[in-house]
Amino acid sequence: MAIRNIREIGDPVLNKTCKTVTEVTGRTKDLIQDMFDTMYEAEGVGLAAPQVGILKRIVVVDVTGEDPILLINPVIMESSGEQTGNEGCLSVPGKTGVVTRPNYVKVKAYDEDLKPFEMEATELLARAFCHEIEHLEGHLYVEKVEGELMDVESE
Ligand code: ZN
Repeated sequence: MAIRNIREIGDPVLNKTCKTVTEVTGRTKDLIQDMFDTMYEAEGVGLAAPQVGILKRIVVVDVTGEDPILLINPVIMESSGEQTGNEGCLSVPGKTGVVTRPNYVKVKAYDEDLKPFEMEATELLARAFCHEIEHLEGHLYVEKVEGELMDVESE
């Protein structure tokens, strides 16, 4: 188990486009395990590789604490509906803001063996997928916040 340093807003690595994963090496597997460990340690529900300084299209998500999901090279195939709610990011510590996202998404991604799969998600999981996949394009949720970014303590 290794906890990696989470990059914070202002770090240029968070604004870069990530590269497609074409092979899963031992180092890639270590990265994936470290991403899960780092996400759980920080009590987050999702983490994208650029948040630990690695420009690869890898995302880990777990919105319940019991359903770890790995997405390699994820793409949103379909989306519908709308949800508006508070969002936060491990790279923007202590802050939260209101963001509108699709209420449903269908994602295509690859597993650790680079086998493709599709997954449907609604509500919080759909929000997490959208948020994390945007990290791979170098975007942070703060660009989409409606109104002010707030301190978590002020809620
Ligand atoms: Zn984030």
